Amino acid sequence: MYIAGEWCEAASGRRFPSHDPATGERLGEVPNGDAQDAERAVAAAAEAFPAWRETSAYERAALLQRAHAGMLARAEAIARLMSREQGKPLKAALAEVRYAADFLAWYAEEAKRVYGRTIPSARRDQRFLLLRQPVGVVAAITPWNYPVSMLTRKLGPALAAGCTAVLKPAEQTPLCARAVFEVLHEAGLPPGVANLVTTADPAPVGEVLTADPRVAKITFTGSTEVGRRLAERAARHLKRISMELGGHAPALVFADADPVHAAKGLAALKFLNAGQACISPNRIYVQRPLYGTFLETFAARAARIRVGHGLEEGVGMGPLVDAAALAKVERQVADAVGKGARLVCGGHRPEGLEGGFFYAPTVLADVTPEMTVYREETFGPVAPVIPFDDPAEAVALANDTDYGLAAYVYTRDLARAWRTVEGLDFGIIGVNDVNPTAAAAPFGGMKDSGLGREGGPEGIEEYLEVKVAGISL
Ligand code: NAD
Repeated sequence: MYIAGEWCEAASGRRFPSHDPATGERLGEVPNGDAQDAERAVAAAAEAFPAWRETSAYERAALLQRAHAGMLARAEAIARLMSREQGKPLKAALAEVRYAADFLAWYAEEAKRVYGRTIPSARRDQRFLLLRQPVGVVAAITPWNYPVSMLTRKLGPALAAGCTAVLKPAEQTPLCARAVFEVLHEAGLPPGVANLVTTADPAPVGEVLTADPRVAKITFTGSTEVGRRLAERAARHLKRISMELGGHAPALVFADADPVHAAKGLAALKFLNAGQACISPNRIYVQRPLYGTFLETFAARAARIRVGHGLEEGVGMGPLVDAAALAKVERQVADAVGKGARLVCGGHRPEGLEGGFFYAPTVLADVTPEMTVYREETFGPVAPVIPFDDPAEAVALANDTDYGLAAYVYTRDLARAWRTVEGLDFGIIGVNDVNPTAAAAPFGGMKDSGLGREGGPEGIEEYLEVKVAGISL
């Protein structure tokens, strides 16, 4: 763990291991923190806050720029570690490290643009002045699926805003979190400004972070279920929250789209990170005239993906995170096939890879709303494809979910693209595009997908308090 600028053990002295999901190999051990350690980290962040908030935006930017350079200098090593600990192929891991570093550079710049405002008064002798100031100590809780970028997406804007932080990473990927803190440490992070508490048992640490009066804000990325629980606890103490939660992204492929372009793009996105992405397309609706051609190209792409260890040359998809994730995917596929879905490819564990949590890229055709896979977030390499007839119903089909994170639209008709974007209840929409994310663009969801945004100018607002002074002249 990393508390008050020092690498340290848990107060209890306990540790827990991290494993490679492709082989079961034990990769290392980290301290197994508990409530005591969380309190120590909160105390360090609270002590560091007054001095950190006093630094100039230019000083904070310089630290973040050094961290950006440090992360890029170590990109290969961090990516290799990520491939082993989280499972994604090396190329995808490298892309994640660069994306993660982008948040440090982008918010280094944005720190300098935390502007205020003057507001005219109805009184001749009065002026209003609005200023933005850091909210205080931030508690950040992050998931395993993007074990580096989800950390910088929170720490970048929080530190840029002048907040201090305590970060609790997912128990599956603590070594990646340690690598991020090594970069911050080497960049010259002042003691206490960001603190890392690793634990195999998140609930007691979560209880401290959501209840301690010194914590002003909770920022969470993970499942809707855990997010809801943390939000309830935070509400009891009226803490500010940002929640980046689950998704169940629809993709709409209209009859005027290029079916091959759509199939290639959606296949690349669906099987990225073995489907373990909150913005992964989980319901692919294809208008009837293109259904056959789309399925053919899509399934051919899926069947071609080589599954294996992320560090092996030519591997396009790694394992799932654990046995529970694998069991969930198998359950969803069996349920769908039992209810009449057509298995176009995959639907099994690949041969010769029994040592890890692997599942073959799977395409299910003719999926219907009665099937679990239609409603439940999949978080695995399973693509449900659904035909539709009436383009006027497409938006209603896409919106038929409690989630509202990402959606995708394929059409060559500009008016249709525009109207569809306006009608979709989702926070992030790709139009003939499968990567609608960047450090500069706000990322976040509606409905059960969460509250708040990360990235872009909206991302730093989450860490700022607004203050108004009415001044008599
Ligand atoms: P999860 O909710 O199980 O875990 C996320 C984090 O919460 C982990 O750090 C975990 O240790 C912690 N946690 C669990 N119980 C806790 C408790 N009682 N108190 C405090 N912390 C607790 O989710 P996961 O399986 O790690 O991640 C997958 C989920 O994350 C998916 O639903 C996915 O859609 C979502 N996700 C969302 C985004 C987004 O930006 N919207 C990005 C990535 C992942």
